[in-house]
Amino acid sequence: MRRHLCLYLALLTLLCPISLRADAFEPPIRAGSTDTPRIALTFDDGPHPKKTDAILDVLEEYGVRATFFVIGENVGYYPAPLRRAVALGHEIGNHTFSHGRTARLNAKELEEEIRRAESALESVASVTTKLFRPPEGVCSDTVVETAGKLGYRVILWNVDTRDWDKASTEDIVKCVRNGVRNGSIILFHDYTAPGTHTVAALKRIIPELIAEGYEFVTVSELCG
Ligand SMILES: [Zn+2]
Repeated sequence: MRRHLCLYLALLTLLCPISLRADAFEPPIRAGSTDTPRIALTFDDGPHPKKTDAILDVLEEYGVRATFFVIGENVGYYPAPLRRAVALGHEIGNHTFSHGRTARLNAKELEEEIRRAESALESVASVTTKLFRPPEGVCSDTVVETAGKLGYRVILWNVDTRDWDKASTEDIVKCVRNGVRNGSIILFHDYTAPGTHTVAALKRIIPELIAEGYEFVTVSELCG
């Protein structure tokens, strides 16, 4: 019986070696605890020379902290909004250096992307982070394993506003209203093509959710 089990495990290892290795690392996180009404707003792809500041203005007005998953390349181009976000107490996460097609990167290339973004954050804003969000939410075994080996937690989301896709203010608000629950991680973007409605939607959503008793926290606070 025991020998059969060993044979079975050996066969399984041959058939899906990467999955078994990836299983050794913490699985991607899509939400926090549902025990308390705490939620996390997250913003990807910045910093942006104007939109990041516009978002920071709204967050500051309501005393809300959020998490920004920044692109290393943009950190070098637009350091000021990043430094402002850090000074306001927002959390910063790693979103690779160049936002390439993650699914096409091998482990070595992905590690290089993560490390280059790390260096940019360190040199521009003295920030270190152990939160990683893969571009486009690609969460292959290579991503889980590579990020895990570097000590990162992979952070996804469970509410996707699709604000980058020029969703209307009304659609973004509706998406959040329908999807939000205790522990939600909500995905927005602070670097997009012109014509998006992220800021207008935040101005409506944040006071409404505060009135309902939700507390806005960073991803690390939400996920312990
Ligand atoms: Zn992105």
